[in-house]
Amino acid sequence: MSSYPRIAVIGAGLAGLTAAYRLQKHGYDVQLYEARQRPGGRVLTTYEGEGYEELGGKNFNNAGAPVCSLRLMHELRLEAQTADLNFNALYVNKNQLTPAFALLKNFQEPADFLGHLEAIAQQGKNLQEVIDAVFPNPDLNQFFASVMRSYEGSDPCSLEVSCYDTLHMLYSLFKARVTQFAAKGWESKRKT
Ligand SMILES: Cc1cc2nc3c(=O)[nH]c(=O)nc-3n(C[C@H](O)[C@H](O)[C@H](O)COP(=O)(O)OP(=O)(O)OC[C@H]3O[C@@H](n4cnc5c(N)ncnc54)[C@H](O)[C@@H]3O)c2cc1C
Repeated sequence: MSSYPRIAVIGAGLAGLTAAYRLQKHGYDVQLYEARQRPGGRVLTTYEGEGYEELGGKNFNNAGAPVCSLRLMHELRLEAQTADLNFNALYVNKNQLTPAFALLKNFQEPADFLGHLEAIAQQGKNLQEVIDAVFPNPDLNQFFASVMRSYEGSDPCSLEVSCYDTLHMLYSLFKARVTQFAAKGWESKRKT
C-alpha cells in the first residue's frame, strides 16, 4: 500500500500500459481499465501454427528517434528485430502468399470512390456489407476486412457503416504506397 493517491488509467494500449507501468514504478497505486477482452489496443499479434503476424503497429522507422520506446524495450529486455524493408509485404491467406501490391491489380476503382462508398454504406447494415459490395474479389475482400479489423479493433460485421470513410482512408494509403513503389520499379527489381 502506498501513501500516493490511486490513479485510474483508461485503456491498455501502448500509451495506457506504459503510463501505468511508469506510475507504478514511481510508487503510485494504479488501476488500469480496458474495454476489450485483451490488452494491446492497436498492437495485436496473431499466431498461426508456428508462424505469427502483426496486425497492428510493429515498425519504428529510422526517420524518427524512438528514444522513449527503445529505452522502454531495453528496460523490459525486449529485442528489436532490425530489417531493411522494401514494400514486399505478403498477404497470407490459408497458406497462400500474395504480395500485397498484387491485390489491387484487377481492382477497377470507381470514379468517385468516396461517394460510391457512401452510397453503398447508406444501404448496408454494417461495414462488412460495404466491403462485400465494394471488393467482391475474395483476397481483396479479406485483406481490407482484416485491415479494418486491426485498425478499429472489431470485426467489420460489428462495425457501423459510417466507418466507410476510414475504409477509404486506408485504401487510399495502401494505393499510394503501391503506386509509389511501382513507380520506383520495385516490382521489376524483385523479379530479378
Ligand atoms: C494496422 C496498423 C499498423 C500500424 N503500424 C504502426 C507502425 O508500424 N509503427 C507505429 O509507430 N505505429 C503503428 N500503428 C499505430 C500504433 O499501433 C498506435 O499509434 C498505437 O498502438 C496507439 O497506442 P495507444 O495506446 O495510444 O492507443 P490504442 O492502442 O488505440 O489503445 C487504446 C486502448 O483504450 C481502450 N479504450 C478506449 N476507450 C476505452 C474506455 N472508455 N474504457 C476502457 N478502455 C478503453 C481501447 O480498447 C484500446 O485498447 C499502426 C496501427 C495500425 C492499426
